[in-house]
Amino acid sequence: MPATRYDLIVAGAGPSGLALLDALARVGLGDAQVLLVDRERRRGDDRTWCFWEIEPGPFDHLVAHRWPALDVHGPSADAPGRRLDIAPYTYKMIRGGDFFAATDAWLAGRPQVERRVGEVQQVRSEGERAVAIIDGERVEAPWAFDATRIPMESVDGYHLLLQHFLGWDITTPDDRFHPGVATFMDFRVPQRGGTCFVYVLPTSPREALVEYTVFSPSVWPQEAYEAELRTYLADVRGIDAFEVGRVEIGVIPMTDRPFPARYGDRVVTIGTAGGQTKASTGYTFRRVVRHAQALAEALARTGTPHLPARWRRHDWMDGVLLRALATGRQDGAAFFSRLLERNPPARVLAFLDEDTSLAQEVALMTSVDVPLFTRVGVEVTWRRWSARRRQATP
Ligand SMILES: Cc1cc2nc3c(=O)[nH]c(=O)nc-3n(C[C@H](O)[C@H](O)[C@H](O)COP(=O)(O)OP(=O)(O)OC[C@H]3O[C@@H](n4cnc5c(N)ncnc54)[C@H](O)[C@@H]3O)c2cc1C
Repeated sequence: MPATRYDLIVAGAGPSGLALLDALARVGLGDAQVLLVDRERRRGDDRTWCFWEIEPGPFDHLVAHRWPALDVHGPSADAPGRRLDIAPYTYKMIRGGDFFAATDAWLAGRPQVERRVGEVQQVRSEGERAVAIIDGERVEAPWAFDATRIPMESVDGYHLLLQHFLGWDITTPDDRFHPGVATFMDFRVPQRGGTCFVYVLPTSPREALVEYTVFSPSVWPQEAYEAELRTYLADVRGIDAFEVGRVEIGVIPMTDRPFPARYGDRVVTIGTAGGQTKASTGYTFRRVVRHAQALAEALARTGTPHLPARWRRHDWMDGVLLRALATGRQDGAAFFSRLLERNPPARVLAFLDEDTSLAQEVALMTSVDVPLFTRVGVEVTWRRWSARRRQATP
């Protein structure tokens, strides 16, 4: 039976697949015949995406709330904490439900995009074509973008931590929050076997998403996050009375392992599956959007969605931090609170976005434990080099 043919196949209708379709339309490739396939039709209430950005962003019309300032609290209960003016950045929140409803409406007006609910069993390059097997059926296109294969296993020479969390949308009977300020990281919680902190994202004086987050090797039972969140709200915030609405639970892999940019010539990876999750923070959404834009621009300009490979020093720095945390030699709460308290906030955010110069990074590094990070940096380089040698030896 002949294969069904498209101009593009997009496997995975999460933010990365949908941001790619949006980016293609922006660069004038909106008429391409696209197959968008996912194993489920997502409603998206299971997550909210927060990120920082210099105004305006491509999904600004979907932003549910924005905060011009962030609070950070170090681990000491007595320390006053610090309010960070993050200009020129704004911290933004997009609710998954709004994102998927808006993209559904947008796609309804684009008959050139065929949406299919199905299991992607394979996506591979075959000569000049990408081939996908979906529920046993073969489809082909010159290019495929794949967000479905997320490698979760650890790799020799590299590190893997999990960012795991539980969040509640809470409503309080009286005014408890300042909707102009989000708490970015509050470390005034016990550090139990990992880096533990709380986000508080108020959307009105009585409503906030509060999220208990851990960076550690393995996830916890749900009741454990709930107990910590209750204790935090009561002991740190003095909030005993509240109603819980939507619950958000998640696990994000934090790894410095290399991700394949492509499978063969014709299948390009996107999203978390394409290594777009920042290893040291778990932030993904904005990176996914930027990556989608770069791929679409490359396709429009050169006819191929291949981006030039480059040595990324940030990957190495992420590896150093992950190793320092994973081996227990760096206390995560101390590291992040010091980095945020001792440097200009916008510079830290630019650094986490990988938008800083080498000189700015050297300046940032002086606020951390330089001898420790130098030692760990040598270890990371050695371990990667040794692993590559082992792999090359038959
Ligand atoms: C609860 C939660 C909250 C998060 N909050 C933030 C945040 O605040 N800020 C931030 O920057 N990042 C956040 N992240 C991380 C990241 O932004 C999200 O995980 C985001 O959804 C990643 O987008 P993606 O398109 O790469 O992957 P996904 O959203 O996972 O999309 C991949 C799609 O592929 C489909 N799929 C997978 N395998 C197959 C298959 N074999 N066949 C067919 N379909 C398949 C899945 O159904 C899915 O729809 C959060 C993650 C979670 C889980």
